[in-house]
Amino acid sequence: MLELHTHTTRSDGSLTPTELVKFAVAQGVKALAITDHDTMAAWEEATEAAKPYDLEIIPGLELSTVYNGRSMHILGFYPDTEKLQGPLQERVDGRHRRAQKMADKLAELGYPIELPNLAPSMAPGRPHIASALKHAGHVNSHNEAFDRFLKDDGPAYVPYEKFTAQQGIELLLNCGAVPVWAHPYIFRGGTVETILPVLVDAGLMGIEVYHPTHSVSQVRKLEEYCERYGLLMTGGSDYHGPKKEKNPDFKDLNALGLPLSLLPPLKKAAYTLK
Ligand code: AMP
Ligand code: ZN
Ligand code: FE
Ligand code: FE
Repeated sequence: MLELHTHTTRSDGSLTPTELVKFAVAQGVKALAITDHDTMAAWEEATEAAKPYDLEIIPGLELSTVYNGRSMHILGFYPDTEKLQGPLQERVDGRHRRAQKMADKLAELGYPIELPNLAPSMAPGRPHIASALKHAGHVNSHNEAFDRFLKDDGPAYVPYEKFTAQQGIELLLNCGAVPVWAHPYIFRGGTVETILPVLVDAGLMGIEVYHPTHSVSQVRKLEEYCERYGLLMTGGSDYHGPKKEKNPDFKDLNALGLPLSLLPPLKKAAYTLK
């Protein structure tokens, strides 16, 4: 089966690339995209780890952009690594600055934390801040950290450094990557119906139709949009590692059971960009 949305310890996932690969094999995944936030740092290790197995690693990433002042995630598949490396490092550097800003805000609020010591190529995110809050004893769970401090508009929330969705799509296209709107119904800055045409104008090539947070009717709606605009369909469990806490949207790796037939159109689209 196919998994097109996963995270590792190179961003905010809890499995290393090697652990993720082994788990994917155990779960029956045949083609696995690693889509860490703003970094390609996991691919090399994952590709190496997958060699003994019948598992194809699909190079991907999840780009953090801003639309209408809200965070919007754009997946990119099959980028030209050399072209994307520089611009992406700027985004990751921005994430390190943002993590420091969130730590500063928390300290001002009376909840000092110690930031994790991540290598410059690794992308810190809000889940790292949530872990630090828990570690410092300020909260009992990740959910509490998000509810009290880190959710969008929470008192310690800091948006990504400015980078519009249109700029993100343009960057991906210029680097030969297929841009796909990740989990559209999580987006809080407007309706899918009104935003989609704008993104399509900017060069969007696909929609992540299948995602644990999407309801059956939302999936149907997105399938219709793909038909209407001639967009590719992708999907994945947005796997961040085994869950320790209750989360209604958690889906295990490969739990969506997506067919491998979604892959050839994606590959073909990537080929047209080369
Ligand atoms: P960031 O890109 O740093 O803003 O972090 C986004 C990540 O935070 C997502 O990929 C999720 O893993 C996690 N996340 C976002 N909102 C929540 C929430 N309300 N509760 C728990 N985790 C969340
Ligand atoms: Zn994440
Ligand atoms: Fe996302
Ligand atoms: Fe994700």
